[in-house]
Amino acid sequence: MSKNHERIHIDEKNLCHLCVTELESIYAELDLTEAELEILSAPRQTITVHFPVKFNGTTRMFVGHRVKFNDARGPSKGGIRFHPDLQVDHVSDLAFLMALKCAVVDIPFGGAKGGVVVNPKELNAGQLELVTRAYIRAIGDFIGPFKDIPAPDVYTDESVMVWILDEYENMKRKHVPAVVTGKPLELGGIKARQYSTSLGGIYVLEKAMEKLRIGIPGTRVAVQGFGNVGENAASILHERGYRVIAASDSRGGIINQDGLDVPELIKHKKDRGALQGFAGARSISNDELLLCDCDVLVPAALSDQLDSDNAGKVKAKIILELANAPTKPEADTLFVDRSIMLIPDVLANAGGVVGSYFEWIQNINNDYWEPDRVLERLKNVMTDAFDAVYALCEQEKSVMRKAAYKIAIRRILYAEKLRGNL
Ligand code: NAD
Repeated sequence: MSKNHERIHIDEKNLCHLCVTELESIYAELDLTEAELEILSAPRQTITVHFPVKFNGTTRMFVGHRVKFNDARGPSKGGIRFHPDLQVDHVSDLAFLMALKCAVVDIPFGGAKGGVVVNPKELNAGQLELVTRAYIRAIGDFIGPFKDIPAPDVYTDESVMVWILDEYENMKRKHVPAVVTGKPLELGGIKARQYSTSLGGIYVLEKAMEKLRIGIPGTRVAVQGFGNVGENAASILHERGYRVIAASDSRGGIINQDGLDVPELIKHKKDRGALQGFAGARSISNDELLLCDCDVLVPAALSDQLDSDNAGKVKAKIILELANAPTKPEADTLFVDRSIMLIPDVLANAGGVVGSYFEWIQNINNDYWEPDRVLERLKNVMTDAFDAVYALCEQEKSVMRKAAYKIAIRRILYAEKLRGNL
């Protein structure tokens, strides 16, 4: 439970506010009918469970939720989080965003989200295991490889996924590895899941660079955030010949216009617990990182980083949103005016759920692919999604975020229509 604990600080409060603001205008442009709007407005299933867990002879009641927003395109997919402030409305918004994300990259999943109202910092591993198992017993009839497939999210990790798997299999009295993704390799996980969000984003970035006729060698990248997504992104970019010039974490950032030696930087962070103090690099604040002289800016930490105050001063030509909702709507407009290409989160960070999709396929078929096949398929899915979004942008002279949402909504509604629901 080590690294993911940091994620509890990630502020997603505005994530859905942003999405809803965008959606209002998109719904109007798509000229949706009343019935279509209604289908997109309410989750198909919202479950709230109250369950007892006994710690050393004392019983505590816990509350858990699981929301399946839309599953017209396939079984619903989405993380399970442990958080003391978890609220069912926010879970529902996040489930909707998962439905959109899966539809943007055209994988056959709907969207879900769930979690337990708990502060994992107050429990030891044994107690967390009891809570996880009790939650799964409570929602066990509603999940399954062809119903709804959980995954890690804020404050949950591989160990939690194993407890979910084991509890579910105990209930069903058989092996069902495809009930959950984000498992360890030994229990049917896939290696690429660790870095598929970052690599998927980089595949999409490279398509964008092709459009703008920017080559890889020497392209200067600044990465905000050095957790799972940011560190993997920096590492992959470095390996592919980009010049990663700046990086930051919650303690601050560093910059060196000649490029950072990313493998050495990762070692430095491991030894010192921070990026600052890295040989040859100058310390900068997170605000400075966003505005530094670079070609590509990769927000990979928090929401609401780019707003009307700083968007006019961003120097990058491309922004790759690996974090969820790093850009406020007013900044979006400023980037359009300044011809900065912004690759939106719903496309840029969808590689994670694509990796989960591959894990699920392999579990279902009990057939495990060579790593090269995983990477090739990830590339195909991500670049096809980019092509579709870019083509619509060109056709409608719109921005990528709007185009991505439009494609997702049309796909979901078309699936509903095929099913006879519209
Ligand atoms: P993480 O907890 O592993 O890392 C977060 C990083 O952000 C840490 O390095 C932390 O130090 C840094 N950070 C915190 N405050 C900061 C600040 N003020 N300035 C700069 N850095 C700061 O989380 P993660 O899994 O890497 O997720 C990062 C973002 O990507 C989140 O928005 C998450 O929702 C999104 N995302 C993650 C995945 C995934 O597969 N992990 C998939 C899709 C989207």
